[in-house]
Amino acid sequence: MAGFFTKLVQRFTKAEIDWDDLEAQLIAGDLGVKLSMQIVEDLQAQARKLHDVDIVEVTKKHIRALLPAYTTPLPPLISGKPKVVLVVGVNGTGKTTSTAKLANFLKKRGNSLVLAAADTFRAAAVEQLEVWSKRVDVPLVKGPPNADPAAVCFDAYTSAAARSAQFLICDTAGRLHTRHNLMEELRKVQRIVGKKDPTAPHEVLLVVDATTGGNALQQAREFHKAVPLTGIIATKLDGSGKGGVVVAIQQELGIPTRFVGTGEQVDDFAPFNADTYLDQML
Ligand code: GDP
Repeated sequence: MAGFFTKLVQRFTKAEIDWDDLEAQLIAGDLGVKLSMQIVEDLQAQARKLHDVDIVEVTKKHIRALLPAYTTPLPPLISGKPKVVLVVGVNGTGKTTSTAKLANFLKKRGNSLVLAAADTFRAAAVEQLEVWSKRVDVPLVKGPPNADPAAVCFDAYTSAAARSAQFLICDTAGRLHTRHNLMEELRKVQRIVGKKDPTAPHEVLLVVDATTGGNALQQAREFHKAVPLTGIIATKLDGSGKGGVVVAIQQELGIPTRFVGTGEQVDDFAPFNADTYLDQML
C-alpha cells in the first residue's frame, strides 16, 4: 500500500496540477468518486488563494475527518455471556486466516474464547482453522462434512457458554452456489445464534481484501444488506493495493474498519489506527 499516494503526490507537486488527472488518480487509489471530488474541489479553492498547495495535507485532512480516530478492540460482554462475533466474507479474502488472527489477538489479551468452524462448504477451511486453533491454543467446535453452518454455531455457543468463554468467534461460509444462498445462510446463522442469546450476534465483521478496491466496496454493500455489519477487517494491506477502500466503505456505508491484516502470519494483525493507516498511505 505504502508508496502509491506518495508517488501520486510527488508527481503533482512537482508540476502544474492537472485537476482531472489528480481526481482520476485519487479514484484509482480506491478512495471513491465522492471523496475524490471533494478533495479536488478543496484543493482548487485553496489553489486560488495559495501559491503552494499541500496535496498531502489536504488529502489527509479529508480522510482523517471521515475515519474514527481509533477503534476500540472488542470488549467482552458485561453480562458474562459469550460475545458472539461472526466473521463473514467471500472466500479468498483471508476470512479464515483473519478468524484465527482475531482469536490469537483476543487470547493474547487474556480473553477466553471458542472458535466455530462454520465455513463448512469449503472442507479445507475447517481443516485450516483446526490447525490454527491448535497453534493459538483455542478450543474449536466443528460439525461433520457439509454440516449446517447455523447448527455448528449453535453447538459452538453451547460449548462456549459451558466453558464460560468470553467470546465465540464463528468463521462462516464464504461460497455457496449463488450469492443469494450465501446471504440466506448468513441470515440463518444470525437467527439461530439469536435463539441462544437474543442480543447475538454482537459483532459481524466483514473481511475484505484491500487489494481488490471496488470489489471490496461492492461486497460490503451486499453483505451489509443481508446482515448489518459492525466492522471491517481489511486484509493484505501489506500487498500492492492502495488501501483506499477502507475510506470508501466508511464514507458510503458508515462501517468502521476494526482490524487490519498485514501478512500471512498470525501476528500480522492489529486494531485499525487512522494515523498509522494515513502515514502508510500518504
Ligand atoms: P478465505 O478463503 O477467505 O478463508 O481465505 P484464507 O484465510 O484461506 O486466505 C487466503 C490467502 O490469503 C491465504 O494464502 C492467506 O495466507 C492469505 N492472507 C490472508 N490475510 C493476509 C494478509 O493480511 N496479507 C497477506 N499478504 N496475505 C494474507
